[in-house]
Amino acid sequence: MKRRRVVVASHNAHKIREIKEMTKHLNLEVVGLPELGDYPPVVEDGETFQDNARKKAVEIANLCGELVLADDSGLEVDVLEGAPGVHSARFAGEPVSDQRNNALLLKTLQGYPLEQRGAGFRCVMALAFPYGSVELTEGICRGVILFESRGEGGFGYDPLFYVPEYGLTFAELGSDLKNQISHRYKALTKMLGVIERIQA
Ligand code: IMP
Repeated sequence: MKRRRVVVASHNAHKIREIKEMTKHLNLEVVGLPELGDYPPVVEDGETFQDNARKKAVEIANLCGELVLADDSGLEVDVLEGAPGVHSARFAGEPVSDQRNNALLLKTLQGYPLEQRGAGFRCVMALAFPYGSVELTEGICRGVILFESRGEGGFGYDPLFYVPEYGLTFAELGSDLKNQISHRYKALTKMLGVIERIQA
C-alpha cells in the first residue's frame, strides 16, 4: 500500500518528535512544518482546544496542499477550573517560557494539599484535507501537580505532572513510556484509526 504522508502543523520540536516517535512503526511519513518550508505560525486565538486545532490544520492544509495534522493541547487544573487550559503555553505571558509557566503554576497552587492538586493534560488533534473535510479526536491523561519539579525529560509542565500509577512525573517517565500513556498518544491513536479508514 502507498505510504501516506501527513504534515504536522506545529513549530514545537517536542510535539513533532513525540508524534514521529509514536508513528515510527507505521506506514506513514510524518513531516514537521519547519521541514516543509518557512510557514508563519497560525494565530491561536480560539476559545477552545478544538477551535485552535481546527484552525491550525485547516490554514496549513490550504497553504501547503497536503493532508495536515494539528495538535492543540494544554494542562487543566481542577481547582483552577480548567486553567491554564488553552492558555497553557502563555500562562506566564510573553515571551513563552516553560520555566516561568511552571513557577507561576506552583505559586498559584501554594497552600493546596496533594488531594486538591488533581489535573489533566488534554490534547485535541485535527486532521484536515486541503479545502476539504476536518476530523477531530481528543485524549486526556490524568495526574497530580507536585510541589516542586522532578525529572529532566519532556517539555512544558512535564516536571510537575505526576502520574500516581507509575510514581513518576512525565519528565521522569522517559519518552517511551510517556508516549504510551499521554494525552497526545490517546488523541493520535484515535486519529490513526481515521487515517487508516481514509487509506482503505
Ligand atoms: P499549544 O502549542 O498551543 O498546543 O500549547 C501547548 C502547551 O501546553 C505547551 O506549550 C505546554 O505548556 C503545554 N503542554 C501540552 N502538552 C504537553 C505535554 O505533553 N507536556 C507538558 N506540557 C504540555
